[in-house]
Order: sequence, then C-alpha cells, then structure tokens
Amino acid sequence: MNKPLILVVEDDAPVRNLITTTLKAHDYHYLTASTGETAIMEASSHNPDVIFLDLGLPDMDGVDIIRRIRSWSNLPIIVISARSEDTDKIEALDAGADDYLTKPFSVEELLARLRVTQRRLLYMENQAPSQSVFTNGALKIDYAAGCASIGEKELHLTPMEYKLLCLLSQNVGKVLTHTFLTQKIWGSSWENDIASLRVFMATLRKKLESEPDSPQYIQTHIGVGYRMLKVE
Ligand code: CA
Repeated sequence: MNKPLILVVEDDAPVRNLITTTLKAHDYHYLTASTGETAIMEASSHNPDVIFLDLGLPDMDGVDIIRRIRSWSNLPIIVISARSEDTDKIEALDAGADDYLTKPFSVEELLARLRVTQRRLLYMENQAPSQSVFTNGALKIDYAAGCASIGEKELHLTPMEYKLLCLLSQNVGKVLTHTFLTQKIWGSSWENDIASLRVFMATLRKKLESEPDSPQYIQTHIGVGYRMLKVE
C-alpha cells in the first residue's frame, strides 16, 4: 500500500512541526496549511488521503471547514483540539469528522490514529457498496437477514442492540458521538437517551465481546461516543 498524502492544518508551529517530523520519519507524504482558507485550497487541489485539522484556526471555524470539505469529499478528517474545546470536538464529529486527537498528544497516538484511518480506507475500498453481509474479525452481520453472529455462534440481540451494532458497523473506524447515535435510534438526544444508550451498549458488549472489560470491537470515547474498530 502506498503511503498516503496527509494534509496537516495547524497554525501552532511547534505542534505542526511535531506532526510533520513524525510523518516524515515514517515515510508519509505531507502538505501543510496554517489557515482555513489555505486548508480548503490545498484539500481541493491536492486531494489528500487524510487531513489533520486543528479546530482553533485564526481565520475560520474548524466546523465550517469540515462542512465545506464534506460538500465535495468523504476523505478522512482527524480533528485536533485542546481540552477546553471538548464541545467543538463533538460538533466537529457531528459535522463529519472521523476521529480526533486531544492536545497534548503523543507521537504514538498520532500514528495509531493514522493506522486506524488507513485500515478504514482499505476496508472501504474493498467493500462493494451494495454488500449486504458485513464481516469484521469473527463478527458477521447479515443486514438482509437481520442477524449477527460471532464465529459459529449466533448473537441473540434485542432490536435496540442490533440497531446499535448496525450503526457502528456501517461506520466502522469512525467515532460516533452520543448525539449521533441517540438521534438515529430515538430521534432525540436528551440526557436520558444518553443514559439509555450506555445501558444498551453494556448489554450489547456482554453478548459481543469475549472480555467486555477490554473490548475488542467497540471502543468507548469517554464524554464523546463509541467506535467500532476494524479487527484484523
Ligand atoms: Ca490553533
């Protein structure tokens, strides 16, 4: 697999240098931008494979940048935010970002996010758009038949658990926010819906994961949401 081209959008020079140095050391190709306008220009003219996007840019709101890019492209966007920008991060995910990094982050975290994104890209490329059977490791979901199994064992899921599992699998590799999930399931996202979501997630995991305390398939993002990982 060719190393992808990464667009790094960050106005803070030390952070930008950390990212580009890491990318360079791991043979990734990259472009940089330090404003929203340049980011959009670079994204449209070079068609990168992945974008790292800082949410706090001097000229534009990060969420607007995501909306603009999403109007023509589905390329993975990993947002970079400060801890104080937690709500921005959630808004960014709801606007179509795929993943996030919170400052300060380590080089290992950065590379791990890239690997998750690359696995997702590879999976999407190999997946026929109309495919009705989803497989991920030992997990198999037959959307047409409405059933799921782990290896030879059929999973006995409630309609709610099944719906949750389908939403996660259809967005494998992507962080889905509490708001996104509760909107899809109940059409609302009150505190109570989020509490119910946690309950259904716990019961789903008990059935899905061999070790629910160290889940293999569904990752928790505290205060943000959940993601289904692509299992080897
Ligand atoms: Ca910034």
